[in-house]
This record gives sequence, structure tokens and C-alpha cells, in this order.
Amino acid sequence: MRGLRRVTALLGILAMLTAPALAEDDENFDLTDLTVVVEEESLDEETPAPAAPGDALWDFPVAIGDIDPELIRLANKQSLLPKDYVPANLVKVPKDPAKGGIRWAVTPSDGKLKGQYLREECAEALCAMNAAMRAVGNFRDMYLKSAYRSYQKQKTMYHNRLAKNKGKDDGWVSMEGASDHQTGLGCDVVPKNWKDKAMNDKMMKEPECQWMAEHCQEYGFIIRYPADKQEITGIKTEPWHLRYVGIPVAAYIMENGLCLEEFHTQLAEAVERYLAAGGDPALVSGFTQGGAAE
Ligand SMILES: [Zn+2]
Repeated sequence: MRGLRRVTALLGILAMLTAPALAEDDENFDLTDLTVVVEEESLDEETPAPAAPGDALWDFPVAIGDIDPELIRLANKQSLLPKDYVPANLVKVPKDPAKGGIRWAVTPSDGKLKGQYLREECAEALCAMNAAMRAVGNFRDMYLKSAYRSYQKQKTMYHNRLAKNKGKDDGWVSMEGASDHQTGLGCDVVPKNWKDKAMNDKMMKEPECQWMAEHCQEYGFIIRYPADKQEITGIKTEPWHLRYVGIPVAAYIMENGLCLEEFHTQLAEAVERYLAAGGDPALVSGFTQGGAAE
């Protein structure tokens, strides 16, 4: 949006400049050079979201209209998702890469759901990212190892893990309500050589995972559990766990080296400033849903 304003302002200045310049028939005045400047400015910017009425008071780098409360929904030990939280528009992820899908490492069973499910926008983004990775050429095939998990499924997994570890929580499986997988926006994506073995942080060295860390935000994903954020997320690094938040939010998080918890803290502060300045509460309702670090 700021980009559009800048271009509009530039055009205004141009209009003022060109009129007298042309009238004076200044041979040094080259209109084409200026036109190029304007085009380059436009190309650098994403298509601007429609201006929201409260934007003048909003000082956060991601526009109000670019933040979807559902897509930034936080699930962790401090912000548990309710037992009955089932994401909207879950779809079965297409598994044939020849038809634009992504291979499944396993076919899970979760209540009535058989297979790998994600929220529709997340499934589409994942398939688009996989197509881009296949186009790179020298990458191994990527496999979707785990996607949506219900509260009940997570509860079973957590208690199985506890039983295996003599009642000790080793931090590898989240308790029910605390899993990013319950949002339908979290997914574990691994290169072929990891599809059947236990995952660990050595996967970070794989070129496919390095590519994901570099490019996932172009598809609206973030690396949900970065290596340097363990203290905040409470989760060991997981180079395979992608979380869909939408492109503008993902770009901001990844470019600034944040985790989702830090984004929520910053967002809650921005909402506070906005409301204190007289901003419309209706426009930011739900932004702190799920709870920032409190
Ligand atoms: Zn995961």
C-alpha cells in the first residue's frame, strides 16, 4: 500500500514537472527515463491490498488487511487450542506429483479422516511449493509425513510417547491442544531419504531443507520451530515443520528471523498502540486470539 502511495505521489510530482518542462521545450528533459523509474517502483511491490479505513493509525509493517486471524492462530503450551477446535475447509492433500500433488510418506487414520488433510489454502500452497522444488531438478522427491491432527489423535500420540519414556515428556510430541498440527496449517515435509526414519536436526543439512528455509515464505510458509528459538517455542528445532500463515505474514516473519510467538508479541503491541490512538477495534478483532506471550 505504501508502494502505491509512493508511485501515486511520484506521478503527481511528474505531472507538475513535465508540464513546465515540456512547455519550455527543454531538450535535456528525458521523459522516458522518468517513466522507467515509475515502472520499476511498481514492479517491486506486491499487489496492494485495498486500503482499510484504519490504516492511517496502523504502524505495523504488515497491513491490517494482510493478516488473517485464523491463519496466525497460535497453538503451544501457553495457548492451548480447545478440544473442539477443528479447522475450517480441511481438504485431502493430492498425492500425485504428476497432477500437482505431493507424495505421502504414510496414510494416517484420524477418526473419520483417512489420509493427509490440511486447510485448503495451506494444501494449495504446499503443492505449489512442491512443484517449484521438482522444477529445481536435482532435488529428491519430497514427502508429506504428517499434516492435520485432531485433538484426540494428538492426545493418543502424546500419551503413547509418555508411556514409551516412562512418563517423561521428552519434548518431541506436543500435548493435546498444544500442537501446531491441530490448526490444519502445520505440516511435516521431508526429502525421500528421510521418509521412513526418525526425524532429527541433522535434516537441516539437506539441500532440500535449506531450500525450504530460504523459499518457503514465497508460498506463505514459515519454519515454525527455528534452531535459535527453542527457548521461546519450547520445541527442539524442526527443519521439516512448515506452518502456513499467508504470504505477507510469512515474508515478515522469515525476513526478520522471528518465530510465530515473537510475531504475536509484536502484533499484540501494535494492536495496543492502534487502539490507544483511536483505531477501530473491529478491524483488529481476533488478532490477539490464541494469545500472545502473556
Ligand atoms: Zn510437525
